[in-house]
Amino acid sequence: MKTLNNLPRPSSLSPARIGVRPTLLRGGRVLDAFLRLDTIDDVLVWPDGCEVAPTQVPHDAIVVDVSDRWVMPGLIDLQVHFREPGQTHKEDLLSGSRAALCGGITSVVVMPNTVPCLDDPALVRLQHDKPAQHGGIHIYVAAAATKGLLGREVSDVAGLKAAGALALTDDGLPVMDDDVMADVFRACAQHDLVFMQHAEDLELTRVDGHHAPMNQSLTQHLAGVRGQPSSAESRMVARDLALCERLGARYHVLHTSTSSSLELIRAAKMRAVRVTCEASPHHLLLCDEDVVRPEVLQPTSAADLDPYKKMNPPLRARADRDALQAALADGTVDAVATDHAPHADFEKARGFVEGPFGVIGLETAFAALLTFVDGGLITPLRACELMTAGPARVLGRAGRMGTFAGECGDVVVVDPRQGWAVTPGALLSRSKNTAFLGMRFRGRVERTYLRGLCAYQRIN
Ligand SMILES: [Zn+2]
Repeated sequence: MKTLNNLPRPSSLSPARIGVRPTLLRGGRVLDAFLRLDTIDDVLVWPDGCEVAPTQVPHDAIVVDVSDRWVMPGLIDLQVHFREPGQTHKEDLLSGSRAALCGGITSVVVMPNTVPCLDDPALVRLQHDKPAQHGGIHIYVAAAATKGLLGREVSDVAGLKAAGALALTDDGLPVMDDDVMADVFRACAQHDLVFMQHAEDLELTRVDGHHAPMNQSLTQHLAGVRGQPSSAESRMVARDLALCERLGARYHVLHTSTSSSLELIRAAKMRAVRVTCEASPHHLLLCDEDVVRPEVLQPTSAADLDPYKKMNPPLRARADRDALQAALADGTVDAVATDHAPHADFEKARGFVEGPFGVIGLETAFAALLTFVDGGLITPLRACELMTAGPARVLGRAGRMGTFAGECGDVVVVDPRQGWAVTPGALLSRSKNTAFLGMRFRGRVERTYLRGLCAYQRIN
């Protein structure tokens, strides 16, 4: 295992450091889950990496006192929708980057359901290159697993990988056909890519062409809308686990939301199947009862349901939410990811049934996760792991990202005691469709460093 003493210490003569003033973050609580580090120390931030407990500090370093703050590697979000190309009225690569920095997130994986979709190597390259040219965050791509996200024909996997794709998925549109899914797993195994599944058996969730807008539940029944059974997720997870176990591919379950899926994943991990999974803050904190508008005692129609709490998979039963929290603590959940899905107000205004699925989450993710640190469910180091070393491992990049041992000066400084309310003004995303509107969190990102420079600083 790497320790502080055998960390690589890049030379101060490295080209990325010439003419650069580094920042010394002094006296913070330094958390690094990859290095199993939880200590009070200084961190020196350079464009090409960080030094914990630096032995030499240049005389012109910018010194910032971060006592009582947490200092962590820049956070990683495994699942976001930045809507570029095609739907940039909701978000684009640069507005998404700003929202991410506000949440301490310096690396994201974008999903391929843009318009056109990311089944073309040239479009994959654009996702990397545009933010890099304009000071945006690090963008990694989960490219389309099948051409046009149609679930019929496997994409040009070699071309997509050569263009920089790290993963494949048809997110939002699960690969339903078993034979196509097996071909995708074979391609993933051959090209060493992880497959990310939006696990949903569409035969159970779409009736007469209509997609059920919420979880099958008493609330759904009272409101008179269609419901998605939780088995729609676990049936797909069971099918995929059987296939990937046989074919030896890496399999990742996006936004896991049901207790039965978690049981299947837990059992597969015991058999050393190469499976990982993520949980989203909204599934961890909310349940299907929360879909009812706060002023309504008992729903009698879809108008009593809040479109800002409509997402897919839907908010589940209280027991599912509790199982997800337990899986966060016992290590079954590998990462917390937002499924940041921006939609304009006029689109959500179409109502609970007709409006689009999805909520944003970049700015609130880590604060939401701190709820479970405050409640004593997880340690600060585990919270750090869930958005740094955990997602890095899912991507096959453990030790290279999400740790101070990596080669990028990406750092987040968090004030764990700062209380704040989620208001539209606190969000930098182009869209404000958060499920946490009006909620109060404790713990807030104060500064985010990207490639050694302070790219975000909260000023109030
Ligand atoms: Zn999805």
